[in-house]
Amino acid sequence: MNSNNSNNTTTNQLLFKQAKAHIPGGVNSPVRAFAGVGGTPVFISRARGSKMYDTEGKPYIDYVGSWGPMILGHAHPHIIEAVKNAADDGLSFGAPTTFETTVADKICELIPSVELIRMTSSGTEATMSAIRLARGYTGRDKIVKFEGCYHGHSDSLLVKAGSGMLDIGEPSSKGVPADFAKHTITIRYNDPQAIKDCFAQFGNDIACVIVEPIAGNMNMIVPTQEFHDTLRAECTAHGAVLVFDEVMTGFRVGLQSAQAYFGITPDLTTFGKIIGAGLPVGAFGGKREIMECIAPLGGVYQAGTLSGNPLAMRAGIAMFDLLTAEGFYDALSEKVVYLTDNLERLAKDAGIGFKTTRCGGMFGMFFTDSDTLPQNFDEVCQCDAQKFATFFHGMLDRGVYLAPSAFEAAFISSEHSQEDLDATLQAAKEVFAIMAKA
Ligand SMILES: *Cc1c(COP(=O)(O)O)cnc(C)c1O
Repeated sequence: MNSNNSNNTTTNQLLFKQAKAHIPGGVNSPVRAFAGVGGTPVFISRARGSKMYDTEGKPYIDYVGSWGPMILGHAHPHIIEAVKNAADDGLSFGAPTTFETTVADKICELIPSVELIRMTSSGTEATMSAIRLARGYTGRDKIVKFEGCYHGHSDSLLVKAGSGMLDIGEPSSKGVPADFAKHTITIRYNDPQAIKDCFAQFGNDIACVIVEPIAGNMNMIVPTQEFHDTLRAECTAHGAVLVFDEVMTGFRVGLQSAQAYFGITPDLTTFGKIIGAGLPVGAFGGKREIMECIAPLGGVYQAGTLSGNPLAMRAGIAMFDLLTAEGFYDALSEKVVYLTDNLERLAKDAGIGFKTTRCGGMFGMFFTDSDTLPQNFDEVCQCDAQKFATFFHGMLDRGVYLAPSAFEAAFISSEHSQEDLDATLQAAKEVFAIMAKA
């Protein structure tokens, strides 16, 4: 089906054209522009529960959830009430509040590796600050990241592996000085030997390794236990700080996050997305000894006018009220299991090569004829992006909103009903049938 045939395309095309007049590319974050799948973005007017509504009132069952935060569904009454009450009390003070203490206490109680925590206004700020802190703490410059992992858009992290030597990273964005990129080593995800080789060569120069403990920005990859055990052991052996970037996986894959799933104690952890319930937020925390290097206690500078914003904190507190309810994550992951098992069955019936991966309230979808799931960025790139685009638009036309890219994960909320899941499967059945004929 041609994406330009959908009912509301004319309106969306007009709105997109208007947006482009004064917003670069018509969007405030690139993936929203649909470049990965073609066609025109849908303009959303409001959302509630599992659904978003476009400007003409067409509903979509939403599997993006604002890229993760909406684990309770959209406009959850308990969250909205907390935000309204907070707004009545004033939007920002630039002075301490007890709400910040409550959120810090809550996260430290749920995540034992976090002894001190500092709030920021975005995930990007959290990872950027964690890296500065790791450098300040160790007195070293080099950092290690993994191909296909995303940690926000700060200079040190917009780096890909160089074509030549391992240690010369190349900027993956214009505007990042090569002099910054050269301190970032990028190696293959989910490859224990690559970690050993990297530490054998540069071990005593490495300030930190930053990793998505479950990758959710190259579609979704659950790495092996050996990968994580190797990473922890090598960081410990060489005095490098292990940073788990749980901006996406934090409170998404389980109440104790991905670090509990693998039984790993990172030195620092970054959060974002869910902890602000949809308001702009981020946080980084970890070992007391490391965190005490931040100003005003130590010499690593980090600050923020709106950090710990009372609306975001009170939304986060309301979020934790519900996430900590007995059985919350079991119910969430049951829905994901039902959906992904049945998607795989329907694809198989239609003769389409399709695989899924999942953990807690997130999942990934791959169009591939391979018998095994993709294990790293190269293998994700080998999947069929054209088939994904066809699937995406077929689903969108049928009122199912997936991430507009084959390199993103999908998210479910507690508000997705059995009816939503079955409507999604019915849509997928129809789209797989069309794809099988093509
Ligand atoms: C979303 C994300 C970020 C960046 O967070 P922003 O709030 O968009 O700046 C960093 N790391 C990971 C793993 C993410 O998924």
